Amino acid sequence: MNADGRNADGRNADGRNADGRNATDVIVIGGGTGGYSTALRAAALGLEVVLVERDKVGGTCLHRGCIPSKAMLHAAELVDGIAEARERWGVKATLETVDWPALVATRDDIVARNHRGVEAHLAHAGVRVVRGSARLTGPRSIRVDEQGAEFTARRGLVLATGSRPRTLPGLVPDGRRVVTSDDALFAPGLPASVLVLGGGAIGVEYASFHRSLGAEVTLVEAADRIVPLEDADVSRHLTRGLKKRGIDVRAGARLLDAELLGDGVRARVRTARGETLAVEAERLLVAVGRAPVTEGLDVAAAGLTTDERGFVVPADWDRLETAVPGVHVVGDLLPPPSPGLAHASFAEGLLVAETLAGVPSAPVDYAAVPRVTYSSPQTAAVGLSEAEARARGHEVTANSMPLTAVAKGMVHGRGGMVKVVTETGGRVLGVHLVGPHVSEMIAEGQLVVGWDAEPSDVARHIHPHPTLSEAVGEAFLTLAGRGLHQQ
Ligand SMILES: Cc1cc2nc3c(=O)[nH]c(=O)nc-3n(C[C@H](O)[C@H](O)[C@H](O)COP(=O)(O)OP(=O)(O)OC[C@H]3O[C@@H](n4cnc5c(N)ncnc54)[C@H](O)[C@@H]3O)c2cc1C
Repeated sequence: MNADGRNADGRNADGRNADGRNATDVIVIGGGTGGYSTALRAAALGLEVVLVERDKVGGTCLHRGCIPSKAMLHAAELVDGIAEARERWGVKATLETVDWPALVATRDDIVARNHRGVEAHLAHAGVRVVRGSARLTGPRSIRVDEQGAEFTARRGLVLATGSRPRTLPGLVPDGRRVVTSDDALFAPGLPASVLVLGGGAIGVEYASFHRSLGAEVTLVEAADRIVPLEDADVSRHLTRGLKKRGIDVRAGARLLDAELLGDGVRARVRTARGETLAVEAERLLVAVGRAPVTEGLDVAAAGLTTDERGFVVPADWDRLETAVPGVHVVGDLLPPPSPGLAHASFAEGLLVAETLAGVPSAPVDYAAVPRVTYSSPQTAAVGLSEAEARARGHEVTANSMPLTAVAKGMVHGRGGMVKVVTETGGRVLGVHLVGPHVSEMIAEGQLVVGWDAEPSDVARHIHPHPTLSEAVGEAFLTLAGRGLHQQ
């Protein structure tokens, strides 16, 4: 400490800078999965961390996304099981009713317990959580408006402010008849009919959930197939599975207009054939993607810009560092190839924290991030689709087989498929699954793709019998020239 009471780095004895700002090693703005994972890892590496969150730590994924939606989809699966029990297995069960408040209470309890868990992790790690909205005042300094507190970061500042639902021009969510995925969670009851706009993962999951709970569902997607970023065979199998369950799937279709009624909407949809379809529904759920959140952040004060869509683009993707040294970005605020998924944001948080701590850390391998749709049937994939592989100039060998080619697939009796895309005579480029529980099966594909394995590497390993995962093993056996059950 100097004679004037300051440390060698210019801070006062209480940790404040000479100008009165609270100094810390790392400031993280946003306490969602991207932000809190950065904070936890940075603290574990010995850095002093301030995490600013204006709502609740856990962010979208915990409070409005992954966790509540998957809790509800679990309940939907139980409802589907009652029909299957009756129709296939002679178990004479009937569904009496769905007690929506009870379902919501269980869901909210799961969210609340996870929330307390995240808070406890942060406290245990020594992360200082500051409640309020952060605004940038310089490259490494912020002001938290509600508190009037200012902070500066010695090592780095991490932007993790996430995303919010997007809508279409002229379609203003009112939380009751026109809703976003956020509103759908907090609705007072279940609608009898839903028009879902958007056939990506969120739209498909909500369509599937509402159908399981008895609603009439129309699913409209502008691209020529639902889950358009997935392999075409995945879209085909998913479409077939959803249609079989009574969902009216309309790909290549566009919403022309939507008129608000007292208790719903009346919409007109231009179908792929150019016809006009009239749809009346109690709810119009807009699931057309998500937009990055930078409002109120004043990124310009840090010398940053956003791209035309509002994303903060790293200058160095290997470190997720912006053009302003020491300012990093993680999570949904990143443009593609960051996929807007919680597990990708965890990996980004680890990378940025390790970078700031000076610990070697490999760049995020975006090509090997798994993608899952938790509908019924589920889809799960990692790596390149067949069309992408060909477009990138690979000579491709693909092998598809139905899940019902293995005994456990027949037990489930819900169709599905495994598709493996490889370089001819070489490594595995993509694994694509559709069917029950495939979300739990994609981790294997992720290791195969991430480790540049070849089919013969996988074929050496024995899959348990009888399981659904056996179908994955079998698909690799065939590609390695050792197929047993695949014709
Ligand atoms: C319905 C739905 C289902 C989903 N399902 C899945 C799934 O199954 N699997 C999956 O991997 N992903 C899923 N996602 C995506 C996942 O939720 C996001 O990728 C993830 O939440 C992004 O995390 P993030 O930390 O970037 O942002 P967020 O979680 O959005 O967190 C950002 C945080 O920053 C805070 N904030 C913003 N601005 C400020 C400011 N100026 N000052 C202080 N705080 C601020 C916000 O309050 C928020 O808490 C789903 C999303 C939705 C909507």
